Amino acid sequence: MDQYPTLTKISEEIYQLVVRYPFGMFEMNSYLFRGENGFTIVDTGSKAKESIELWEKTLASGITVEKLVLTHAHPDHCGLAKWFQDHYRVPVFISSLGYQELQRKRNHKRVNWLHNFLRSHDCPEISQNIGNSEADAYEFEPDGVFENQQLIKLGNVTYNTIWTPGHSYDHFCFYNQNQQVMLTGDHVLGGLSPIIAPWTENDENPIKDNFSSLEKLKAYSTKLALPGHGELIYNLNDRVDEMIKSHQFRLQQILNIVGNEEKTAWQVCQDIYGTLSAPKFFPPLMATIARLIYLEKSGKLHSILRNGKLYYKRDSK
Ligand SMILES: [Zn+2]
Repeated sequence: MDQYPTLTKISEEIYQLVVRYPFGMFEMNSYLFRGENGFTIVDTGSKAKESIELWEKTLASGITVEKLVLTHAHPDHCGLAKWFQDHYRVPVFISSLGYQELQRKRNHKRVNWLHNFLRSHDCPEISQNIGNSEADAYEFEPDGVFENQQLIKLGNVTYNTIWTPGHSYDHFCFYNQNQQVMLTGDHVLGGLSPIIAPWTENDENPIKDNFSSLEKLKAYSTKLALPGHGELIYNLNDRVDEMIKSHQFRLQQILNIVGNEEKTAWQVCQDIYGTLSAPKFFPPLMATIARLIYLEKSGKLHSILRNGKLYYKRDSK
């Protein structure tokens, strides 16, 4: 008999809830760690009618919640933080970098910054909504913050916090050495590649950050990785190597596409992904910009500003 019908049991203490919502990535993995004071939940899913109904059903199946811990301040991970606080008085914990990220995202200036940034990369259509959807996900005050390399309890078990900037500047993984479990959030996903993009002014070179954060994980021996989306990962190091390779493939592809010409990020994005209409082009365009920034900072491309637009060119020898 299933004690908790909505949950999938991963181990004696760890359960998974796949939270669905009708936009974005469409689903996200929440993890629930059983402890003597109730469950610690990691990440909530986006705020949507479906996701709220699923959580209500889950909480009604006899689950008491001790606290909520967040891997990073993206709306599909923190979207229901305020809902948990308001409706269940659940205390919410995020890293201090995540808290800064929340404050930055609440500030409307960030949207202006992003729109100017996109314009400089030749983006043709910029709606008010772009980079500003699910904005109410940031409207909560955490009850506590954690730092890098701190101990945090998930249920009864103590985990280490590991700062892994890349997918987002404030991203954290959680690691337990005894069980060799790594909660990877959106840093490492099973079948898909997390988007690496400069979401805020903080992200000066997110791909470079991401490469070092991927290498960082290899120092921890891991039997089971718990990703924020998709299937559980049993071979984390292989998956990390695969992700590094696929970034390198994309970087080389961009160098080939730029060839001997001068191209804007928008042009390169179209060459790779074809013509995409709004708002579908937003993630691939942002990923392309991140790669161009990385190539420029590593001396393989340089950019020229002409009529307010950045053109990328290969360095001639
Ligand atoms: Zn994310």
